[in-house]
Amino acid sequence: MATTSLADPHRDAELDRLRWIDNIPFWGVHAAAVVGVIWLGWSWSGLAIAAISYGVRLFAITAGYHRYFSHRAFRTSRAFQLVLAVVGLTATQKGPLWWAAHHRVHHKLSDQPGDVHSVRQRGFWWAHLGWILVKRNAGTDHERVRDLTRYPELRFVDRHAIWFTVAFAIALYLVGGAHALVWGYLVATVVLWHGTFTINSLSHVWGTRRYATTDDSKNNPLLAVLTLGEGWHNNHHYYQRSARQGFYWWEIDLSFYVLKLLEVAGVVWDVEGVPRHVRERTIKAAAARPAPPAPPAHPAAPELSVLLPPREPPPPSAHPHAG
Ligand SMILES: [Zn+2]
Ligand SMILES: [Zn+2]
Repeated sequence: MATTSLADPHRDAELDRLRWIDNIPFWGVHAAAVVGVIWLGWSWSGLAIAAISYGVRLFAITAGYHRYFSHRAFRTSRAFQLVLAVVGLTATQKGPLWWAAHHRVHHKLSDQPGDVHSVRQRGFWWAHLGWILVKRNAGTDHERVRDLTRYPELRFVDRHAIWFTVAFAIALYLVGGAHALVWGYLVATVVLWHGTFTINSLSHVWGTRRYATTDDSKNNPLLAVLTLGEGWHNNHHYYQRSARQGFYWWEIDLSFYVLKLLEVAGVVWDVEGVPRHVRERTIKAAAARPAPPAPPAHPAAPELSVLLPPREPPPPSAHPHAG
């Protein structure tokens, strides 16, 4: 299970203990990135390799793991669904089933007790990275992702997640030697990790709120640029089914622009936007309200009314763009 009852303090302490030995690879990648850059020295070509590696893999996380697997905000073929999964696996954030199952808990219980990564509940560093380093959140609640587990290929890649990231690192070394490994995997992965983590930590702390959601989510233009659009986090918590998280033209959302290009190319379709009446009416409604209400005593976030139930993508043959 992704979450566990808080009934037994001893068991909870054990489940929430930071497991330093188990997480040596995580800290090792950080250390190796620093040592690698000192050893090889500064390099503009290295920075370019890191930027490309960061951008491509982050897109697989933001558009794939987040907007597609977690929220089903657009449709695609079974083949491209697998491509998003495999590229996302090279980002070393476990598999799409694990990622989506935990993310759906975050939206279900947003900043209420039981939220897997809430600054309000357990502090900044827990929300940033502590929650992924403990036993409590190591497994996957497959009941939360039944729309995804029906694909055997997704279950397979999720189960063997680590080997895809190892293969990616080896491939970089074989193609470009230590230079490509250090910049393309080690440096890019550390930045990619913390870029993604900021959405769970900083985006619930730093920024402005357009919508009076029951959580602490914020909109932050700087984080939005750094994370390909994920920094419009208050928008996202308010209307989760949208593949577009920047609700206005000035709210830069690179993941959405790429998805629209892929839609023109026929690779994805039904890319959900934000209905104008939803966007504007909610702002007026929020402005008319005297103050946001206190969080409810039990975890029942009202924005769940717009969270699915998850859509089932059709088999590839059922859609004219498929294949
Ligand atoms: Zn989300
Ligand atoms: Zn959030």
